[in-house]
This record gives sequence, C-alpha cells and structure tokens, in this order.
Amino acid sequence: MPDMPRPLPPAILFDLDDTILSFATLADAAWKHVVDSYVSQLPGVTADALLPVVLERRDWYWSDPERHRRGRLGIDDAYGEIVRQAFGIIGVAAPEVAGRMAEEYGVVRGKGIRPFPGAVDTLTALGDRGVKLALVTNGDRKTQRGKIDDHDLERFFDCIVVEGEFGIGKPNDEVYVYAMETLGVRPNETWMVGDNFEWEVVAPKRLGLTAIWVDSRAEGLPASPSVMPDRIIRSITELI
Ligand SMILES: [Mg+2]
Repeated sequence: MPDMPRPLPPAILFDLDDTILSFATLADAAWKHVVDSYVSQLPGVTADALLPVVLERRDWYWSDPERHRRGRLGIDDAYGEIVRQAFGIIGVAAPEVAGRMAEEYGVVRGKGIRPFPGAVDTLTALGDRGVKLALVTNGDRKTQRGKIDDHDLERFFDCIVVEGEFGIGKPNDEVYVYAMETLGVRPNETWMVGDNFEWEVVAPKRLGLTAIWVDSRAEGLPASPSVMPDRIIRSITELI
C-alpha cells in the first residue's frame, strides 16, 4: 500500500539558515580555509595555533543574544571582531591582515551555502499541496536577500520577513504575528519550522503555533528545555 500523505497545516512559517540552507555546518571549514590562506603573513604563528582560537572566539561571539543581534545585522563587523579578538589572544598585531581575513571569510562562507538535499523539492511539494508559506529570517537585508536570490527561493513564499527590513526579528512576537496576518491564518493553523530552539520553538509555542524543531546539526534537545517541540525532524524533507 502506498504511504498516506502526511497531514499538513494551512500555513507554515519557515526559517532560512540551517533549515532550508546549509549554513552553520560550513563555518568551520571556511575559517580553516581562511586561516590556512593567511597564516604565512603572520610571523611566528601556525594555523594549528590560530584556528582553535578563532573558532573559540567565534563561539564566544555568537553565544550572547544581544551581541548575536548586533553581529547578524552587521555581519562584516562581526567577522572582523572575531579575527581581531583571536589575534589579541595569541599576541599578534596585524589589523590589515585581520580585515582581509574577515572579508575573505564572508566571501568563502557565502559561496558554500546551498539548499539542503531535497529542500527545494519539499517547498515545491508543500506549495503544490496548497500550504501557504512564509519565510521568517533574522539577519541583515543584504545578506539574507542575497541568499534568497542566489537560490531562487522567493517564488515559494507568500510572505518574506527579513529582520533587517522589518526592523525587529525573532523571537519578538510581532514577527510571527505579522507573518500569520499576511498569510491570513491563526496560530492554531500554523506551524513554525526551524533550527533555533528559542526562535522556532519557545517563542512560537508561547503564541500558540505548532513548533517543528529542525535538528539539522544532530545536536539533540537543549538541557532542561522550558518547552518541548511538537515534533523533531532532521530535515524538512520529513514534512511531506
Ligand atoms: Mg536557522
């Protein structure tokens, strides 16, 4: 007997990075590439010494919600600060090299971003089945619109909310409410699908949406979650 199609809601709000596009998984490789390319310009420094410090500062940088917000709305400055901090820790003063490394990282990073296997087919299938779709993504306008354009994603969505255009981002209630109002749906008709536990599970559940958590990095649930997702998937292909 063929599989029955899975039940779907009237509307789905999708996150972009690490939900539709492979994003975080590429970061370590891009930093390694940049460190390997520039370390010869830093006397007395080896890639083995520099790379772990860069990755540690990267994790530190993005760990604080307010710094994360500032960083994603000014991403080039964020990369620059990560490199300068790493240089400070290993005792290197080379601001020009730091600036070029940050710039190169942004370029390499952007080139590596791709839709996850099956993600575009999934969006197509959801549209074909009449599900209204919104894209709700945090980050600055240029970066997020660039990714949407590069991968021809706008055609799938009746509503696109980019933090840098809208003025506020997830997890502010207004973001989800605006997307649902634009689609003409209520919270109990809407799924939020994404990888960020605060933005795509905790906040949407508070508003009465169904939260589908995408564990794209196979990290498992956070310790003592304040709320449970309604469903956990590894890939959005599991929705259909
Ligand atoms: Mg995400």
